[in-house]
Amino acid sequence: MAPTAQAARAEEQSCKANGGGGGVGKAAVRCHPALAEHKASIRGVVGELLASAGKSRSLISLGVGDASSHACFRRGREFAAEAVAESARSGAFDCYAPSYGFPAARRAVADHLSAGARHRTRDSDVFMTVGGTGAITAITTVLGGAPGANILLPRPGFAPYEAACEIAGAEPRFYDLLPRHGWEADLAGVRALADGATAAIVVINPNNPCGAVYSAQHLFQIAETARDLGIPVIADEVYAHMVFGGSKFVPMASFAHIAPVISIGALSKRFMLPGWRLGWLAFCDPNGALKHVRTATEMLLNVTSGPASIVQAAVPEILSNEHREFHWNVVSLLESAADALHRRLNKIEALQCYSKPHGSMFMMVEIDTSLLNGITDDIDFARELIKEECVLVLPGSVIGLKNWVRIFFGAPVSLILEACDRIESFCRRRTGQAKLLKSSSKKF
Ligand SMILES: *Cc1c(COP(=O)(O)O)cnc(C)c1O
Repeated sequence: MAPTAQAARAEEQSCKANGGGGGVGKAAVRCHPALAEHKASIRGVVGELLASAGKSRSLISLGVGDASSHACFRRGREFAAEAVAESARSGAFDCYAPSYGFPAARRAVADHLSAGARHRTRDSDVFMTVGGTGAITAITTVLGGAPGANILLPRPGFAPYEAACEIAGAEPRFYDLLPRHGWEADLAGVRALADGATAAIVVINPNNPCGAVYSAQHLFQIAETARDLGIPVIADEVYAHMVFGGSKFVPMASFAHIAPVISIGALSKRFMLPGWRLGWLAFCDPNGALKHVRTATEMLLNVTSGPASIVQAAVPEILSNEHREFHWNVVSLLESAADALHRRLNKIEALQCYSKPHGSMFMMVEIDTSLLNGITDDIDFARELIKEECVLVLPGSVIGLKNWVRIFFGAPVSLILEACDRIESFCRRRTGQAKLLKSSSKKF
């Protein structure tokens, strides 16, 4: 639920009551401080935006990322439901799963990651988790739980990392992604941020929220930076292979001989199965630097719970190489949606997209608020846009970039074009005397 001023006041009062030594029966029960703060969360902000949505027409939701609700993205994916139905019917997977996952699921992920890779991932390198988020929580707890630890996170970024750091007691430190350099990591900034207590750097590639796909050269530079700092790379690759426009996905693990890599994957995005809650952590550590990290991960997974057995049992079928048409369809839908969105929005004077997305399902758009009457920041932009045009976008300030918005393009092109029409009308009304469209489309 959205944090409200009322809730914040109630909290404040309960804190006073707590410290005020009231009767035993009245003292508020204490809890984790990282969870008591009423911070702006994506869910909270989106909840507030949805509450102010206009009622005149249907909502186009480009705020949060779930393409699975659109039937066109599920075309050719019957194999997944059949595999899980079969594992349910067999009765062989009503049991608890082993702590690190079923051997067949671990092997399927290991084979999937090893195909054409420089370093082979062994079955024992793979740990099945509850979605990609389960992998994020686990590795952040393991690495960030060291006393005084900090973890380097990209800005703009993916909010669960920051939350997981705070819950683990680690300090999140943000390095910049550079909009004018294809959203590459500011590696000089990374070096300046790191110190002896830095436990890891998180790299998201293909990138949410920027849509960037990093070159082998940039990944190599990241690996060298991590090596110099003596830290592992947490490579969030939940959008692996979701690339287009001539880009190639290069796994971070290709550079694991330079710095150890812990990669994160999931069925949520590429297979359009976010509700099935299946993800994994995979260690790629040819030099053996992560011995203790691996043991600690095993200890943690022994006392937490993993993904549903019947879903794990379907993993070998889902990850098999036989579903090319399904993947081809998803990628071509995303490519046309990204192209349309980029082409249309970049024509609007008040909006700027520095680079066309080459992967994932998101892009970042900069707003020149000086050209829009009555709009002072990204939150205003998102609120007025949903009020007047029923289009939901995510204000960038929630993910670390004020006066930008994140737009999701995992939707049919017709819907994206409709959203562009509405955004254009909105900007036209707000532009007043200033001109709406750029005189010549700028090239970057
Ligand atoms: C969606 C996403 C995940 C994983 O999410 P799950 O739904 O928990 O599988 C991880 N990282 C990024 C960057 C994501 O966008």
